[in-house]
Amino acid sequence: MYIMIICGAPGSGKGTQSDMIAEKYNLLHLSTGDMLRQEVAAQTELGKTIDSYISQGNLIPDELMESLLAHRIDTTSAEIKGIILDGFPRTVAQAQALETILADRQLTVNALVDLDVRHDELIIRLLNRGKVSGRSDDNITTITQRLHVYAEKTLPVNKYYIEKGMYHKVDGMGTKQEIFDRICRIIDQTL
Ligand code: AMP
Repeated sequence: MYIMIICGAPGSGKGTQSDMIAEKYNLLHLSTGDMLRQEVAAQTELGKTIDSYISQGNLIPDELMESLLAHRIDTTSAEIKGIILDGFPRTVAQAQALETILADRQLTVNALVDLDVRHDELIIRLLNRGKVSGRSDDNITTITQRLHVYAEKTLPVNKYYIEKGMYHKVDGMGTKQEIFDRICRIIDQTL
């Protein structure tokens, strides 16, 4: 099974590109943000706890996120050809946990694609999305906190994968198709 991580700052286009990749290569798009928002929408006790983190622009605690992800992988059909992990891992601890979660299931990460987008462009994209997304975290206060959390907690994840030789930086500026073509070249090399 092919496993690819797509990462990048909030607003870098991970979700959009993951959908395009999933369709072309017949992979499962597994977005932890979407998983969490579904739990919030279900208005469970867990969902209320999750909502308090998301709407403040903070990360859900590692252990909770890791157990939700492991459960999601275990409930995935054995038929799928591969997974695009969108939004996970977001901390070095999650990256280490992912290695164990996958190894326990005889799986491994094949490649990580990091979408590189200028800071001012990220804010423009997120504010534009906020006009239609209805997301509690697409407002300037929460966007600022999300970008801060990204720089502090998520950027160090790149080093972890650089050292493993799995890291691929992709220019995330340009049209959707241009960015998609760049990603496809990496997938075709690592598939
Ligand atoms: P996203 O849809 O990827 O932008 O994620 C939206 C929000 O969900 C983030 O700002 C976090 O609050 C939470 N979230 C998503 N993925 C993770 C993760 N791997 N670890 C912790 N929190 C996460």
